[in-house]
Amino acid sequence: MAAADTPVLLINAPLVASRLGYPDLSGLDLLEAFAFIHPARFCVPTPRGLAEALGLPVPETDAAVPELLQRAAGALIAAVRDPAWFAREGAWSALQSLERLRWPWAQVLKPHIARPEKAERWLFARLPEWEEAGERPAPRQVELSPEAVQAQLARLTGEGAEIREGQRAYAQAVSRIFAPRSAPGRPHLALAQAGTGIGKTLGYLAPASLWAQRSGGTVWVSTFTKNLQRQLRSESRRAWPARRPDGTPPVVVRKGRENYLCLLNLEDALQGGFAGRAAVLAQLVARWGAYTRDGDMIGGDLPGWLGTLFRKRAIAALTDQRGECIFAGCPHYRKCFIERAARDSAQADLVIANHALVMINAARARDPNQRPTRLIFDEGHHVFEAADATFAATLSGQEAIELRRWLIGPEREARGRRRGLSARLADVASYDEAGAEAIAAACKAGQLLPTDGWLQRLADNSPFGPLEALFAAVRTATYARDESGGHEAGYGLETEASGLPGAVIEAASAAGEALASIRVPLIRLGGRLEAILAEPPDWLDAQGRARIEGARFALAWRIELIAAWEALLDRLGGPADPQFVDWLAVDRSEAREFDVAIHRRWLDPMKPFARVVLEPAHGVLLTSATLTDRTLEEDRWASAIARSGAAHIEVTPQLSTADSPFDYASRAEVLIVTDIAKGDLPALAGAYARIIEACGGGVLGLFTAIRRLRAVHGRIADRLARAGLPVYAQHVDPIDTGTLVDIFRDDPRASLLGTDALRDGVDVPGHSLRCVVMEQVPWPRPDILHKARRLAASKAGGGGSAYDDRIIRARLAQAFGRLIRSKEDAGHFIVLSPAFPSRLLSAFPPGTPVLRVRLDEALQRVASGVLDRQSDPQPGALQP
Ligand code: SF4
Repeated sequence: MAAADTPVLLINAPLVASRLGYPDLSGLDLLEAFAFIHPARFCVPTPRGLAEALGLPVPETDAAVPELLQRAAGALIAAVRDPAWFAREGAWSALQSLERLRWPWAQVLKPHIARPEKAERWLFARLPEWEEAGERPAPRQVELSPEAVQAQLARLTGEGAEIREGQRAYAQAVSRIFAPRSAPGRPHLALAQAGTGIGKTLGYLAPASLWAQRSGGTVWVSTFTKNLQRQLRSESRRAWPARRPDGTPPVVVRKGRENYLCLLNLEDALQGGFAGRAAVLAQLVARWGAYTRDGDMIGGDLPGWLGTLFRKRAIAALTDQRGECIFAGCPHYRKCFIERAARDSAQADLVIANHALVMINAARARDPNQRPTRLIFDEGHHVFEAADATFAATLSGQEAIELRRWLIGPEREARGRRRGLSARLADVASYDEAGAEAIAAACKAGQLLPTDGWLQRLADNSPFGPLEALFAAVRTATYARDESGGHEAGYGLETEASGLPGAVIEAASAAGEALASIRVPLIRLGGRLEAILAEPPDWLDAQGRARIEGARFALAWRIELIAAWEALLDRLGGPADPQFVDWLAVDRSEAREFDVAIHRRWLDPMKPFARVVLEPAHGVLLTSATLTDRTLEEDRWASAIARSGAAHIEVTPQLSTADSPFDYASRAEVLIVTDIAKGDLPALAGAYARIIEACGGGVLGLFTAIRRLRAVHGRIADRLARAGLPVYAQHVDPIDTGTLVDIFRDDPRASLLGTDALRDGVDVPGHSLRCVVMEQVPWPRPDILHKARRLAASKAGGGGSAYDDRIIRARLAQAFGRLIRSKEDAGHFIVLSPAFPSRLLSAFPPGTPVLRVRLDEALQRVASGVLDRQSDPQPGALQP
């Protein structure tokens, strides 16, 4: 009621609203003002974080927060009044627009931001243009001597740094991948297990930077998490300056194009494409766009919380999600962040990317010369799953709709510039008759694809067109045959794509024909574009040429996609191909359907990975702290080698191990709690609450099911927050995961609950993380894909349960790895499950004490801390 009467000062209105159960809360959100006044600056979106960002005293208690909010507002106003305010340019003009949009802060800030004497340049005029550079020559073949590698490592670690033998040996092992290759198709492949704390990053950056310097070539480092990308960017500063003398950056972070701000989409949003709150967001993004380092909106310097203050989809709508870029036809082409990143990375010494992008780039790079040849996969234990996702084929309703939109453009009266193929290639169509016919034929055939409202039509059993008819048949078959038990639980449903009913096979055949009727004219169109490029007409200037080349590239990719879908449908009725696992699925979340799909995965995705990534490369490293299996029995390397793809190119990888220098035996303790029965939700929630109280916060809670996570959070969060122990949760709080981790890191009394993504995406050294709690043993979900791979492993002689055990050990090792990130860290790892098989204990580092205890005892041990444990030996301790 107070908020409805008069605008109140708030931090993170959506979060406050969700905690109060009052969704319409609005007011003067300090985070919005911060984004306007300090664009592209980092701030943890909590009272504490805001106080730190503004240099104000951190409030000790919740009672001190209201005063902080007022002070923060004062500090923000003082910042804009400061003559040295770095973000003054553009502020007055933006504020005029924001006032028209009734942004609450406009009235507050207006008296303090004077109209500039000269008219302000607007964002697009302010951004620098990229320069076209010549092609980089091929790298020279060089040998790195051990002495040179060690000298480089010493230089990077700095004078007086402690000499770490493990790191020296590691750098030496890594340097071998940079030696000249001895046979085509046979890269140097190294697998390096690097225990936490050996200094892995500088260990590989030393030979990588030396090689780049001597050869003039580019090294790609690929990571799985954004967090490691951030860390790499900062560590690379030891080897490379921020800029070369010519102003170009030697180190570039490269992401998929859907991560970057598309200036054309932004312009469109600013000029009426967005309305209401989304239009306010567009103005704040434009402020950021003028000051950003590289235009990266997802995990770059755009605060992760900005999108969640508004509408999530609005951020995505400002990127180039669907490949609608018109390249040189775009008025902002020469300033485009995406084009700049692509050009910078072609000239860079070090490109920091992620696994998926590296694989996609290797598979379909626009320019084959830009394919990475020296590759370091950090977080190498994720390469298998990244390859699994990259080389998968999925024909789903959502994907088919995307194709329709790309072909036809928006059908209903939509705001904005989103356009279909014929609008994008209007000049080609008016010049080339055959091209125009091909475009018209493809667009006409595109009408056979699903359109908005398709899910409802499926539910009503009134599909429209051959693709919707296929999805309807798939949906019926999946509901009829699913035996996963997901039906009642509200989860997704699936069924093997074998022995399918005739209705599915017939529908698949008709859908395949429809897809072919789209693909064939697209191929014709591709041919026409090539002909135009081969014999360019007078009107085709360099920009037009670049645009047609871009269109040809986008076209080739769609043709490939449609062909893959046709192949998928073709095989539905035939005999199963043992190389693949095919299944049908209805994707659901909390019993609400959101997609229907036919999936195809490689049984071993490292096969295409080996062909596309390894074979053309000269040197590849896979490294991680959890690369090898922590089994006591057979060869610890067997699975890492199998999951590297080495066998498919007949290469024997070089193996190396550097053990962690951390003293796990005295700094960590594993507690397996024996008196929380499976399925007893009140007991589980009670245990979490008591552990968080005993620790005084600093707990990372990991769940295998979102439902249980929500239930536990719902039971404990309010009570703990009242005790000054805030509990944040993925899938509950309206905050992105990266920001949740930032909040957790920043507040030692906070705890964080989450699922898989937190198991190895959290790097929180120090006091903020002192206890990891797993609700149960992380068994793999027995879905169709898992069962097929398990069966293959058992046929290969490993045994199905050995396959499961390896997966669980890896997950436990990753989760345990969150606990001790530095020499000073100490803490407990707790599993709330009596059913913890002893054979899995080897997942923990050798020497780590493991105890099976009742909850009460666990709480005592947690409260007294790990470091006091030495005085209290446990005769019954189990040793992994
Ligand atoms: S070139 Fe493409 S991605 Fe870049 S701003 Fe223009 S339309 Fe957007």
